[in-house]
Amino acid sequence: MVEVTQRVALVTGASSGIGAATARRLAEDGPVMLADVDDSGGAEVVEEIRSAGGQAEFVHLDVTDEKSWAAAVETTIAAFGGLDVLVNNAGIGDWDPIEDTTLETYMATIAVTQVGTFLGLKHCGKHLKKSGQGAAVNMSSIFGVSGGFGGVSPGYHSAKGAVRTLTKTAALGWAKEGVRVNSVHPGVIVTPLLDGIEDHQGLYDMTPMGRLGQPEDVAEAVAFLVSPKASFITGAELNIDGGFLAQ
Ligand code: NDP
Repeated sequence: MVEVTQRVALVTGASSGIGAATARRLAEDGPVMLADVDDSGGAEVVEEIRSAGGQAEFVHLDVTDEKSWAAAVETTIAAFGGLDVLVNNAGIGDWDPIEDTTLETYMATIAVTQVGTFLGLKHCGKHLKKSGQGAAVNMSSIFGVSGGFGGVSPGYHSAKGAVRTLTKTAALGWAKEGVRVNSVHPGVIVTPLLDGIEDHQGLYDMTPMGRLGQPEDVAEAVAFLVSPKASFITGAELNIDGGFLAQ
């Protein structure tokens, strides 16, 4: 049995949904810095974690903004003395058909979902290497691997596909530097992100297990991938999708 030691984690998009569940779960393994643009939601999750006996802080972070990243990482190091785990979770979706998607919408989705992941790796890399047990998980999606509903959500598909391969080049580049980097690919998970989708029955129908996932399903998988139990896993893709990508 591998000993699980205390590790400092930074989770983006941690005020809601999958990010909040991941922050709660990682707080069982060490201090967590929650980072998000939603300050009040983040404060609530921090309070929950502290009430359960965990150690957590919140920092305002817009993942599209490089200066914001530099400040958030500095705040994390000042609060906890280092950084061992990065979860690049923040992401937004676009929903329209390709033909109707404005360039502005496309670029906004890319900025948060794709560029935010790059900036996270860029600004945290040095500290993850210093850790000696560094690990990053990038939140991709089943839609980073498949064509999804077909012809819609062009920004989301582009960004999640980019996150998938960015993960692999980071994993290879840091393989001998003690930092593992993996991507997770959730299927349909019950969070506020689904508010833009009207046909919820369609979501059940597209999932082989016939149910939707919970944020905790993803949080457990992330916790495993960043733990020493996954010490020989890097550059991998873990699908958490009720069988969607097995089709
Ligand atoms: P939520 O909308 O519940 O949570 C996303 C969080 O990210 C929100 O708190 C949001 O704040 C925040 N956020 C948005 N923009 C930024 C930004 N620029 N900088 C920092 N934080 C930001 O979404 P989910 O929990 O569902 O999604 C989390 C991740 O999981 C995303 O990457 C998503 O693509 C991915 N995913 C989700 C799936 C699902 O079915 N739910 C399936 C596959 C992948 P605010 O609310 O104020 O905008």
